[in-house]
Amino acid sequence: MTKDQWGALQSQLSSTIGENNYKTWIEPMEFHGVEPGGVAVFNVPTNFIGTYVSQNFGDILLAKLSGMDTDVRRLKFQVANADTRPAPAQQQPRPAAQAQPAPAAAAPANSDLLPGAPLDGRFTFDSFVVGKPNELAHAAAKRVAEGGQVTFNPLFLYGGVGLGKTHLMHAIAWDLRNNRPDLNVLYLSAEQFMYRFVQALRERRMMDFKELFRSVDVLMVDDVQFIAGKDSTQEEFFHTFNALVDQNKQIIISADRAPDEIKDLENRIRSRLQSGLVVDLHPTDYELRLGILQSKVQNYREQYPALQLDDGILEFLAHRISTNVRVLEGALTRLFAFASLVGQPITMELTQDCLADVLRASDRKISIEEIQRKVAEHYHIRLSDLIGPKRVRNFARPRQVAMYLCKQLTARSLPEIGRRFGGRDHTTVMHGVKRIEELRTQDSQIADDVELLRRALEA
Ligand code: ADP
Ligand code: MG
Repeated sequence: MTKDQWGALQSQLSSTIGENNYKTWIEPMEFHGVEPGGVAVFNVPTNFIGTYVSQNFGDILLAKLSGMDTDVRRLKFQVANADTRPAPAQQQPRPAAQAQPAPAAAAPANSDLLPGAPLDGRFTFDSFVVGKPNELAHAAAKRVAEGGQVTFNPLFLYGGVGLGKTHLMHAIAWDLRNNRPDLNVLYLSAEQFMYRFVQALRERRMMDFKELFRSVDVLMVDDVQFIAGKDSTQEEFFHTFNALVDQNKQIIISADRAPDEIKDLENRIRSRLQSGLVVDLHPTDYELRLGILQSKVQNYREQYPALQLDDGILEFLAHRISTNVRVLEGALTRLFAFASLVGQPITMELTQDCLADVLRASDRKISIEEIQRKVAEHYHIRLSDLIGPKRVRNFARPRQVAMYLCKQLTARSLPEIGRRFGGRDHTTVMHGVKRIEELRTQDSQIADDVELLRRALEA
């Protein structure tokens, strides 16, 4: 067989086994030559790939080769530059008549042992908006993405749902592909890790599994809280983790909370996870939300220059829609879709119509307790003094501020607010609310306090 014949075979394979399979398994193979006895030798990046190709595509390869004018009767896969390793799987020839029908374009049953999960093309550093709440996480991710010396291991990113953990991890993977194409970067969710582990156990392919995971240069595991309570998966994860750290390979982990808050996680794993750099993504603030919305609108405008968006809409959404960026994006997408369907400019009215349910759902319910706690904290007094009977000014003024905020920010009635302030009468509450309304216009200190507290409570 010649290189040209291999090239011709390759292009046939892509249509026979499907493009995905082709890209994952065949493309990384390099035709090395034919050994005496008709053994076609291929260089493969890992034993795992060699074994996989041999088991799943060996028949197809041989069948196709027998149809070509070659003397190939067997296949051999070898890991390049690893001549000391025992020769991996060899494929025995079969008479063409017995050749199994090709598994055709359908993926083989066990193709889920495929290396990483696909990366989302939209999740790049370019499209990630940086603000106060995520600047540390972003900086750490950027550093890791350079692919230089491993300085902190693992990088542990955590934060609530929809705050950009997955986005940052994909961005790291994209950058590494560009900056360090020589590195073997593997991204997957903890759930996929478990799935593959269980599958490898079932198919008695633990060696493949271990080899696959031990041969990566950068391992990224998303949503690691998933393995909590799953003992054997944790165990395997721990060994994989240690093996890679020992080889000074970079590991990046994400979770929805800090390592010490993940329940049912073995202590030794917890402390391993904490041993690198732990950074959190804080809930978004108004500025970040506005920045994200602006960047989405800008992208959208490039595709649809006719987009008409009234002033103040983005500000309104950034104010009103909680902390979860996914919800924010969803709202904007819906708004664009709706506006383009009905062919109208996006006005405040249309926005409120179109997003009524989202806006209602994200109306955060602020509780009286929350207000009382924040106010007591702000004035450095005890909660019991804020609510209690003492009338000294040091307590009475904060108490009135708290009552005022309860009236403004909750739907509670005056009598109910009174009850929650140590059983006071509703007229007392009314008086307090009026007093603060007056003072806000006269006393800038009070005005500032109220504004600060309101913002903190609405954040
Ligand atoms: P997580 O993994 O933390 O739950 P994701 O990374 O999936 O969150 O982010 C949810 C959505 O919000 C994604 O579409 C992502 O692109 C977007 N997103 C989150 N943070 C930002 C940001 N700072 N800039 C731009 N988009 C963001
Ligand atoms: Mg995620």
